Amino acid sequence: MLKQVRVLFQLQALHRDEVALRGRLGTLPKSVEELSEQLLSEKERLRELSELIVSRQQRQASIQKELAIFEEEAKKREKRLYNLKSDDAFRVLMREIQNLKKGKKMLEEEALQLEEDIPRSSEEIHMLTSRVEQLEKEYHSKADSVEKERQGLLVELECTSSQIERLKGQLTPECVRHYELIRSSSLLPIVAPVRNGTCYGCYMNIPPQLFNRVQANRDVIVCPSCHRILYFDKNGELDLENEEVMLSM
Ligand SMILES: [Zn+2]
Repeated sequence: MLKQVRVLFQLQALHRDEVALRGRLGTLPKSVEELSEQLLSEKERLRELSELIVSRQQRQASIQKELAIFEEEAKKREKRLYNLKSDDAFRVLMREIQNLKKGKKMLEEEALQLEEDIPRSSEEIHMLTSRVEQLEKEYHSKADSVEKERQGLLVELECTSSQIERLKGQLTPECVRHYELIRSSSLLPIVAPVRNGTCYGCYMNIPPQLFNRVQANRDVIVCPSCHRILYFDKNGELDLENEEVMLSM
């Protein structure tokens, strides 16, 4: 039985490694995903900014046309001023001219603002383009290193799994069944020593008859309270847990 217990300890250590490896594999894609999301959002900003600059340039061109029309209309009205017969018509035309000039002034202010905004957006686009290029490089290098790490972890996992299968082959089917049952309930450690009639997994007393059988260290005995696989270890002299450490190193 003690040989079986030793194997169970090794098995437990390997299963622990396996869980850690799977955990690492699970978190790997996250670091690439974060970088990819960052890259996508910067690309989106770049696209928006490029669209904005195009629309500003279009507006700049249309302002020049509008300004020419306003000027022409104002001139036409100014010529007509000298041929007017009534004061009322003069006032109406004057108001129209003033409105045209007011509109022209507003357009000129808008044009000035655009003259400031367009170079600023161009500069921003320039900086953002470098940032996107940098992020793209980082993303590709990260994706490569993550893929290498993933391949390495998969090899390690495969190796651990085959070691687990090999060790299971050294156990009795009954022992494997108990082991898997306890493992599925995530009860660690799966194996517990019995000292002075007490299970050192759950610290409950073992019934005397069962204790006698545990002392013989012959069969697979399961703790009636915590269902861990028991082995007799009178004064903790077996030190199987430390053996386990040595073996798993
Ligand atoms: Zn117990």
